[in-house]
Parts: sequence; C-alpha cells; structure tokens
Amino acid sequence: MAVRARVKPCHICNQSAPVLYRVKYEEEGDWVFVCPNCWQDISQDNPFYVYGGTWKAEKAKK
Ligand SMILES: [Zn+2]
Repeated sequence: MAVRARVKPCHICNQSAPVLYRVKYEEEGDWVFVCPNCWQDISQDNPFYVYGGTWKAEKAKK
C-alpha cells in the first residue's frame, strides 16, 4: 500500500505545509486553508477574518 502524504496546499501561496489554518478572510468568502505565513498577512487588520480551526497533516497518535 502506498503511503499517501496528507498535505493540503495553502489557498494563497499554494505551498503545502504541515499545519494550516482554516479561515475566512473575505466578507462573502468561503472557508479556505492558509499556511502560517499567509495567515499572518490576511489576519492582520482584517475585519472579515474568521478563524475556523487548525489542520494538521499528522494526527497525533498515541
Ligand atoms: Zn501560504
């Protein structure tokens, strides 16, 4: 069985990241996933910014 990397690309820069933030950043926008770098850009001084959770590529397994 092939190992499937569970990665999502960032909505803004298209880079995949191990941790992404689920956010809305436009008044009528949809939920999107952004990397921590872009998250800083879109969350600052943005009245439409809504935080919807954190997505991690690796689920904690214990
Ligand atoms: Zn990004």
